[in-house]
Amino acid sequence: MNLEALPAVPPPGPVSSPRPVVLVVEDEASYVDALEVGLTSEGFTVVAASTLRAARQRLAGHPVDVVLLDVMLPDGSGIDLCRDITASSSTPVIMVSARSEEVDVVLGLEIGAADYVTKPFRLRELVARLRVVLRRAPPDDEDVVRVGEVVVDLARRTVRRGPRVVELSRKEFDLLALLCSRLGHVVTREMALDTLWWGVDLNDDRTLDTHVKRLRQKLESDPGAPRHLVTVRGVGFRLDP
Ligand code: CA
Repeated sequence: MNLEALPAVPPPGPVSSPRPVVLVVEDEASYVDALEVGLTSEGFTVVAASTLRAARQRLAGHPVDVVLLDVMLPDGSGIDLCRDITASSSTPVIMVSARSEEVDVVLGLEIGAADYVTKPFRLRELVARLRVVLRRAPPDDEDVVRVGEVVVDLARRTVRRGPRVVELSRKEFDLLALLCSRLGHVVTREMALDTLWWGVDLNDDRTLDTHVKRLRQKLESDPGAPRHLVTVRGVGFRLDP
């Protein structure tokens, strides 16, 4: 069986397709065979790629609904592909690792994976996880902003960080939305205060710092050394993608 061969079937549809299309990026033929049988019977359409190169070709040609991505592949690491997919689309990626140590690596990196499973996994568990990430896959539109592993859906006012939903207060979300609206550009303290607390007589503007601090605690891996919500000294703040 040549796993690199592209399927001869017509291109699958987007998320709304009645049979969600799963791209299985996996070099162990036994897994691919089992997943093709199992996931097909569960109502998915399975396409397979055994290398990073084949996966990239497949993704460039036609979008898929979800990617099941092995960490160790013959021509490199699935982590790199995960980063590329999540940086350029809203396609959810479930990482598959052979060892639990790999899971720590996967989770320690901000690669945007929606979830992960460890081999050997049960089909039932995988199907449940696939359905969860497909349900929450945000639409690929301008209302969705990605910052590292954080996904902000401005229309739905929801925030995810990797697989988890992040709870924000109304003001915290408003501040995040303001920062998203000027992604990569500075938001001055005056701009933030006017937008969020217009007409409110704040005793001091430390309220703004408190909100920034809380956002960092919820969104940054290391809130003490923020990588995304950075301070522009003497001016304001900037959200870096
Ligand atoms: Ca492998």
